[in-house]
Amino acid sequence: MDGLMMDQPLLISSLIEFGARYHSKSEIVSRALEGPIHRYTMAEANHRSKQLAQALTRLGVTEGERIATIAWNGYRHFELYFGVSGMGAVCHTINPRLFHEQIVYVINHAEDKYVFMDRTFVPLLEALAGHLPKVAGYVIMTDKEHMPETKLENALCYEELLAAEDGDYQWPEFDERTASSLCYTSGTTGNPKGVLYSHRSTVLHTFTVCTAGGAGPNTRSRYLSLVPMFHVNAWGLPYGCAMTGAKLVLPGPRYEGDAIFDLMDEEKVDKAAGVPTLWMLLLAEMEKRGRKPEGFKTLVVGGSAFPASMIAAYEDKYGVDVHHAWGMTELSPIGTVGTLLPSMDALSKEERRAIKTTQGRAVYGVEKKIVGENGAQLPEDGKAFGELLVRGPWTASSYYNDPDATAQSFTEDGWFRTGDIVTLDENGFMNIVDRNKDVIKSAGEWISSIDLENAAMGHPAIQEAAVIGMPHPKWDERPLLVAVAAEGEAPPTLDEVKEFLADKVAKWWLPDDLMILDELPHTATGKVSKLNLREQLKDYSFPGV
Ligand code: ADP
Repeated sequence: MDGLMMDQPLLISSLIEFGARYHSKSEIVSRALEGPIHRYTMAEANHRSKQLAQALTRLGVTEGERIATIAWNGYRHFELYFGVSGMGAVCHTINPRLFHEQIVYVINHAEDKYVFMDRTFVPLLEALAGHLPKVAGYVIMTDKEHMPETKLENALCYEELLAAEDGDYQWPEFDERTASSLCYTSGTTGNPKGVLYSHRSTVLHTFTVCTAGGAGPNTRSRYLSLVPMFHVNAWGLPYGCAMTGAKLVLPGPRYEGDAIFDLMDEEKVDKAAGVPTLWMLLLAEMEKRGRKPEGFKTLVVGGSAFPASMIAAYEDKYGVDVHHAWGMTELSPIGTVGTLLPSMDALSKEERRAIKTTQGRAVYGVEKKIVGENGAQLPEDGKAFGELLVRGPWTASSYYNDPDATAQSFTEDGWFRTGDIVTLDENGFMNIVDRNKDVIKSAGEWISSIDLENAAMGHPAIQEAAVIGMPHPKWDERPLLVAVAAEGEAPPTLDEVKEFLADKVAKWWLPDDLMILDELPHTATGKVSKLNLREQLKDYSFPGV
């Protein structure tokens, strides 16, 4: 028997329409490229998103066509999120830190019709345009006054496009399963893979963004998204702020510690989300100024593991509550969020800290299981580890036009293989042991490179660390610790680090060698690129071996 409820489609346009109606004065504050701080309201954002939808229609864009963006976190990018998807086209956000060949690949693979870009990226697109035969035109996200001289043919000015429209526009209604946005994973191996979100998956994911563990935006929050809008829809925060009316603060192109501090301070940001590297920068700035940005209460971190030493610094010294989250492009991205359960209040501080360093806890809508190498399901006892498989209404079901990659990552019975090796416990807390390809296999046992890195980063003279398995004639692989020394500190010796780690990890995990570098290579999403590091160290062998 069918239920007798209305079957109204879940559309992205309904989020901003709601925001504009019931949170019309909620602010979107951006550090603009043209000058200092830009601020306007949700109602204005909705109006301009509608003007954009009209402009796209005038340019001949029709439902399902892909529109690319290469832009910082700012209000015009916000309008593209809603204007493009809202009119039925697909918003393809591109990470400018991808290699040039990868940018060419994703634009051609997606068959983007128009490319919208911040002025910063005009030279990039000028260099690549000759390889982009299918792009009909380029839109520079600025006003007439700041329009740069450009070699790009068919270059249009964003503000002029909008100025020609009146914003008198009704968001169209269509099937909620329609594609809304497209995001490519950074492709550490092979070409980037496209994840094509739908309106339905996005709206359902937004509910979780706003509810999971109190870390998301609510009506009273002032939320800073350091998560780039070119990376997995900024973890869904722009949609979440439209849904709840939270004030949204966007950093534009400025990601230095002092710029982040000032923006948070001035806008009285209480919640902020970003990757660990940024929290390291901000912490250094807080130490310099001897205080935290005024009103800063909640930090959400994900993308890579967040060491216990960092959690301790934020929580114990500055009273900032840390939520460790885990996700993937293929999961829209939220998969877990760390929040302690009431029953954990009675635990000691150390015990609670240990739980907080896990990658967080199950959220409704992301079903999980772990499987061993033979595919058998393993117990969720916090000890057994295996590859994590997930499924749910905002998990990808395949990659966009990529049957080979799809065959590798999706099982025949409908699960997505994450490639993460994890433990799960009875409360749904998940601990990432390693990426499948990074785990170190020593004498038939596994060493978690992530655990070793986290422990090493607690050393006061180490700023950033990566551990990789290097071939060893006797043990198969042994851990090599590669580290960047903390500013103003003398680089530590191997013996000093081993002594520091002695009570933190098993003896046979201790690294066989330490290498100090000026910097570590990073991927387009700010993670240490072990692929590049391995390439850099391909001629390395352990001393005396
Ligand atoms: P990419 O960086 O390739 O674009 P994603 O952003 O989708 O891809 O990265 C997803 C991967 O990042 C996960 O599979 C996991 O290995 C890693 N990751 C995400 N969050 C965390 C976290 N909190 N701790 C450790 N690793 C994480």
